[in-house]
Order: sequence, then C-alpha cells, then structure tokens
Amino acid sequence: MRLDKFLANSGIGTRKEVKKFLKKNLVKVNDVIAKKPEMHINPEEDIITFDDIPIEYEPVVYLMMNKPAGYVSATEDDEHETVIDIVPEYMHLDLFPVGRLDKDTEGLLLLTNDGKFSHQLMSPKHRVPKRYYAEVDGHINEDAIKKFEKGIDLGDFTSSPSELEIIESGESFKAIVTIYEGKFHQVKRMFHSIDCEVTYLKRLQIASLELDEQLELGEYRHLMEEDFKLLN
Ligand code: URA
Repeated sequence: MRLDKFLANSGIGTRKEVKKFLKKNLVKVNDVIAKKPEMHINPEEDIITFDDIPIEYEPVVYLMMNKPAGYVSATEDDEHETVIDIVPEYMHLDLFPVGRLDKDTEGLLLLTNDGKFSHQLMSPKHRVPKRYYAEVDGHINEDAIKKFEKGIDLGDFTSSPSELEIIESGESFKAIVTIYEGKFHQVKRMFHSIDCEVTYLKRLQIASLELDEQLELGEYRHLMEEDFKLLN
C-alpha cells in the first residue's frame, strides 16, 4: 500500500495534508524518516509512526461528505451513480452511507464501514437529532409549527415531536426542521401533511455535528476526534 494512502486511511489527514506532514519529517517507517508519499509499505509488517507515535492500522473509515443531488445513498444501484462512486479510493474498504438522503437531497452524509457506529446514529431508539434546511412551496403557519411539535401521523408511524422554524416567508418558505428518526422521505412527508411541497432539502447537522462549511458539494473529509465528540 502507498504510504500516503495508509496515512489518509488511518485518519491522519487528507492526502494533501499527509504530503505536508511528510515534508515536515513527521512520518517514519521502521525508524527512518519517510519523505515520499508513493513509498510502498506493508501495514501488517512495517512500523509507521506519526510524530513518533506508532499508528495502529485499523482500516475503519469515517468520512463526512457534502452530498450533491443526483447520487443515490446506497452502495449499488442499477440506474444511478451512488455516493460510493464519489469515493473510489475507499472502494476496497466496503464503505456504506450512514442512513439515507434522497437522491435530490444535499448536505451532510456520513460514510463508514463501522456497522455499530452507523446503528448508534440511525436507530430510532437513540433519537439522534437531524437538522435540515428546507425550501417549500406552500404556507407554513403557527399551526404547522404546533403540528410538528405534537408529532405527525404519517400512516406507517408518527413522528416524534419535531422543531420547525420559519426563516423566510413570502412566495415560498424557507425553514429549518429537526427530526429524531430518519424514515423514508420523512421531512418531505411531514411537509406534505401540512399541504407544502419541499423543493429543496439539505441536511445541516446530525447530533451536534454540523456539515463542514469548507466542503463543496461532492467533497469529503475524514472525521476528526472533535467530530466524534459532537456525535455522542
Ligand atoms: N427526509 C426526506 O424527506 N428526505 C431526505 O433526504 C432526508 C429526510
């Protein structure tokens, strides 16, 4: 495996950052300073250190992506590109999306190969808040806010009390909504129940972790220690 890939996969930083660390002599392979990102290493046999601390090779990966519209949140799809197609360098690590965003939804999506991590965040039992920005056709009034607060019967389930905040009104409405499950089309269905149609949807936050504003659509980065704290 290439050294830069090993370092990036281990969460040390992006490939670009890793290059800088190598330049700064921060990485050693078997006690010898390594300079070349393309150096070939064997993660099972070589001892690789970062700032003199050995790196445990655990090919468990956690990525934060700013999902663009047009990609399906799945590992495979017969018709459309999937979010996994955006991260081809991790193909061999069997990543999957943590929960789903609709094909036309943008914003914060986590990708991992850690099933337990995913379950913790997505199980309705854990009631992890997910915050969305929505643009809707229709009229949101105080009554709608109360309905969201009360929980909405969507047929297959009733949503937990959710927060709805109008941030702009006029011809169309802009709102922030926080839900505590992640059922199929949940936000769209909740708005539909108050005679509003969602025309644009973007996830902003999961638990206390916000989408990194530095990430353009289709960009991603590793989760850092601080991010994990915000997900707890
Ligand atoms: N709710 C929806 O309706 N769509 C999403 O993509 C996410 C939540």
